[in-house]
Amino acid sequence: MTAISANKPVAQDANLPFKVRQRLNELEGKVNAFAKKMIAMNTKAPHITTQLLSEMSLGACASPSSKYIKINSLLLLKASDLPTKLQLKGMNDPRLQSNAYLEEVSNWISSYFNLPKKPLNSIDKHYIRVFLQFISDPKLSDYARDFVLGHEVAHIIHQHRGELFPFLDFLANVTNLFLYGVYLTTSSAAVAAACSQVIPMVAAAYIVATLYESSISKTMEKEADLTSVRHVKNAKEGGVYYFDTCANDNKKALENGLASWFQCYSNGDKRFNWTHPALSERINYIKKAY
Ligand SMILES: [Zn+2]
Repeated sequence: MTAISANKPVAQDANLPFKVRQRLNELEGKVNAFAKKMIAMNTKAPHITTQLLSEMSLGACASPSSKYIKINSLLLLKASDLPTKLQLKGMNDPRLQSNAYLEEVSNWISSYFNLPKKPLNSIDKHYIRVFLQFISDPKLSDYARDFVLGHEVAHIIHQHRGELFPFLDFLANVTNLFLYGVYLTTSSAAVAAACSQVIPMVAAAYIVATLYESSISKTMEKEADLTSVRHVKNAKEGGVYYFDTCANDNKKALENGLASWFQCYSNGDKRFNWTHPALSERINYIKKAY
């Protein structure tokens, strides 16, 4: 649920089965209805388009400048789409720990969307497990989908992102140019001496920039969460359900040795996540939102 992800592979429209394109259109209608609710009176809501991301995740991402939302394949599916034999038999279904079962689900998903089959990594498996648990409650998973879409629309309405990555890119470019200049104009011993002075400063500047960006990014994510909760019907219940499902899978995966500590951190379970508030924090402020 980041604000942008321009370089992620998007499934080509022409290869998508009719029912998938139909679902994307349906969601596009929803997304634009949410945008109208979020925008102030007398202001025209932007027209937002939707695309399918071939990644297996329950997230989505938005481009505030180009006004599109990329939706991950799992988020497009409803409980009734999944064949009965693949549906979970309760949250403690032992198949959740079986690679063969997760592969079977993944193969079904690839065929449904007409996407190439690929070997699953542990992050894919986490999302498939979350998806299987998520989809077991059709009503709450619908609310959660609306929360996620509302969150992405909020990034577009609030024009989030503008000042973020360009700042880090600028810093990296200046650093590279500076080091290249030093390299061109000095002997190697002088380069080494200059670098020994410059690199710690660059590293410090980079850390400061990252912390700065991280705090802005988290503020934006919180704003998008709260905008979605305030303007999208049932998004509050949906948001709590979504983050609870992710947090529970992280917890169970850690206990059962299915994911490393690091993966659970990068899935956003703890405060180590740079771009998004911790899942527990998101659950708390969504519950308190009005
Ligand atoms: Zn976001």
